[in-house]
Amino acid sequence: MALMHIPSGEVHKGRKGETTACGINTKEQLDHWGTVKNTVTCNKKGCKN
Ligand SMILES: [Zn+2]
Repeated sequence: MALMHIPSGEVHKGRKGETTACGINTKEQLDHWGTVKNTVTCNKKGCKN
């Protein structure tokens, strides 16, 4: 499952309403996040592997 941070267009690994693999709490600004099928583009530890 991938999540896009809509303002930046960056795609992270995770589910909406939870914490991304790189540690961002999506609950803080839930409307900034959308579930997508895009390839993960985040380079942070956890998302990138
Ligand atoms: Zn990430």
